[in-house]
Amino acid sequence: SSWFSHVPEAPRDPILGVTEKFLADTNPQKINLGVGAYRDDSGQPVVLKSVREAERRVAGSHFMEYLPIAGHRQFCEDSVKLAYGEDSPVLKNKQVAMLQSLSGTGSCRLSAEFQGHWMPGSTIYIPTPTWANHLNIWRDAHVAIEQYPYYKPETRGLDFERMCDFLSKAPAGSAVLLHACAHNPTGVDPSTEQWRELSQLLKQKALLPILDCAYQGFASGDCDRDAQAIRIFAEDGHRMMLCQSFAKNMGLYGQRVGCWSIVCDDEKEVKAVESQMKALARPMYSNPPVHGALLVHTILADPELKKQWLGEVKDMAERIISMRTLLRQNLEALGSPLSWNHITDQIGMFCYTGLSPEQVDKLTAEHSIYLTRNGRISMAGVNTNNVARLAEAIHKHSA
Ligand code: PMP
Repeated sequence: SSWFSHVPEAPRDPILGVTEKFLADTNPQKINLGVGAYRDDSGQPVVLKSVREAERRVAGSHFMEYLPIAGHRQFCEDSVKLAYGEDSPVLKNKQVAMLQSLSGTGSCRLSAEFQGHWMPGSTIYIPTPTWANHLNIWRDAHVAIEQYPYYKPETRGLDFERMCDFLSKAPAGSAVLLHACAHNPTGVDPSTEQWRELSQLLKQKALLPILDCAYQGFASGDCDRDAQAIRIFAEDGHRMMLCQSFAKNMGLYGQRVGCWSIVCDDEKEVKAVESQMKALARPMYSNPPVHGALLVHTILADPELKKQWLGEVKDMAERIISMRTLLRQNLEALGSPLSWNHITDQIGMFCYTGLSPEQVDKLTAEHSIYLTRNGRISMAGVNTNNVARLAEAIHKHSA
């Protein structure tokens, strides 16, 4: 018999499984609300004009040599400036250790590995619910996981009180994973005031914030506004980790370009920490790919191109925001007795509709509308052509 006859088939990824089923459906009216990638109003994937221009400039201009283990240094510096802010004191004081990562997932994985190595025995606190891969990532890094309350089904909003209460009981030296903006899957974010309170709470209780920032610019359309949590925590003097992804905000999904950074005490500490960040990356994949980092660097380092890109992120965010309004209007116009305020209150790529798994099954079986069974819809899949049909189906099964 084979060496592998004892290997059972792993369960399908719940998110990627939705797309597989969508592709197999022959209904021409089918709607895919599972995709975590931006689509334009005709349902097509988008390559940003600023990215095409960067591609044109980069093409044929560079060697195919390896990057260093920590990746493209200039790219990392551009990237952390975008997050912490141009005039950020932690950057001015050279307190930030950084490394080019394999997009947001790679940054999270390295954060988890770093925690496992250098904060042995510590726990990671992860919100309920969260992007399902967070749980896989910290589990595979052998870090103990606790889940804190985050979402309140009754209000379809933030359960701030229970969240703070739970976190205040976490042992000092634990880490807390926070979605920097556009929480996935709920679309529910703390307000500015609540971020300030959270920052104080984590400080008082000696908890390490790990901010996962996969949607900067994509939530509000404004990269500075979407970085508010990062900047509040940095300003309050936290030592923290930050996981940045350029998948969504630059549409570079398949290029796997991200940046992982750690705010340290001083330059000396940065040197040691950065050397250990590299020591984690080296045995996993040696060094990151070059092309995507060059694209991002080309855009962020050129004021004109950066301006164009900021406009394009804003356009994507605004299309999504306008689809939220339209979906809510359509539901209200159908005479739905339920409240749909949460559709427009929530932010980012996703809307947590409150539909039950059984209701989701009906949307799929009867209307060829595909979404995850937790009732999460990707707003990117909604457009002016399908919103009426979507609203009717939701109305029919939620009434
Ligand atoms: N974190 C969150 C919260 C996400 O939603 C995603 C993308 N779905 C990621 C991280 C990672 O994405 P990527 O690895 O493509 O950058």
